[in-house]
Amino acid sequence: MAKIDIGPPDYKKFLSPMIRKNYGKWKYHEYVKPGVIRHVAESGDTLYSIRIGSPRLVSIDFIRDICTLADEYCEGYLRFTSRNNIEFMTGDESKVEPLIEACKAKGLPVGGTGKSLSNIVHTQGWVHCHTPATDASGIVKSVMDDLYEYFIRDDLPAKLKVAMACCLNMCGAVHCSDIAILGVHRTAPVIKHEIIQKGTEIPTLVACCPTGAIRPDPKNKSVAVNEAKCMYCGNCYTMSPGMEILDAKNDGVAILVGGKVSNARSAPSFSRLVIPFLPNNPPRWPEVTAAVRNIVETWIKYARKGERVGEWIERIGWERFFTLANIPFSEKCIDDYIFSRETFRTSAAFKY
Ligand code: SF4
Ligand code: SF4
Repeated sequence: MAKIDIGPPDYKKFLSPMIRKNYGKWKYHEYVKPGVIRHVAESGDTLYSIRIGSPRLVSIDFIRDICTLADEYCEGYLRFTSRNNIEFMTGDESKVEPLIEACKAKGLPVGGTGKSLSNIVHTQGWVHCHTPATDASGIVKSVMDDLYEYFIRDDLPAKLKVAMACCLNMCGAVHCSDIAILGVHRTAPVIKHEIIQKGTEIPTLVACCPTGAIRPDPKNKSVAVNEAKCMYCGNCYTMSPGMEILDAKNDGVAILVGGKVSNARSAPSFSRLVIPFLPNNPPRWPEVTAAVRNIVETWIKYARKGERVGEWIERIGWERFFTLANIPFSEKCIDDYIFSRETFRTSAAFKY
């Protein structure tokens, strides 16, 4: 076959020999203890995965450290999960405990498997992106430091997935996680005409707005924004730096709950808004940290065994959730979007 240099390489080339040998022929898996999963294949092969949390945005030194551990204990094999956990894999049971000790000695947290809090999947934040309403790494570090106990124990009612996206363009998995932390802008972009005049493609800028809030302003050789139509997504700022969406005073954080990707027990579901705004309060975001902990602890206290956050809320009802979690209800929590078939309103009752 001709060699091509486009597209991702064939992932099978990078699988560990045991996974390649038993591909599609795994019989079952079990959670041995927090941070350790055992997969057993039809052939009788047994693979241990040891999971550690990562900060997602990692340094070369960090990568060197984990590669050294993989070389020493796992014949050089490790993988990253979609929530930025790192999993070391070995077929040799005698290496499991020494590897865990080596991880701990390096300060790497071991856990996140089964009924525990997985690593938080998150976006770029102030480190890299241009439209964030808040930081990603900073909030995630603060929340994970606070919730660390739930990463290293696996006796929660069910799996707990937390996600963070620093704007509603949402490069994170905030639409489908048990608890989602979302950066929100609350003011329309401030137009800097001189920047737009200098080098912005005005038709592209007008076309980029999902709500049609931008129209050409020929008099100024620029654009105008209909603020009533703007949903503060920041898309226009991606098209032109002349559409300044960042607003230090009004940007902040919203909390959503109840999403999941899993098909187990109930269908996948979208998360819903429960706290419309918390202030941006770096470096440790105490309001966000406390809000997430409160939801986690209320769920642990009241959920039945096996119930994800959304499943628990659907069973007890959203009204009861707001009462139990002591979260003030506001009109912003009402789903008033009426243009989607799936969420079309069919009764006079309001939806969350
Ligand atoms: Fe940028 Fe928004 Fe993605 Fe954050 S979520 S990295 S602000 S596009
Ligand atoms: Fe349109 Fe979003 Fe820009 Fe508002 S922020 S004008 S909705 S593109």
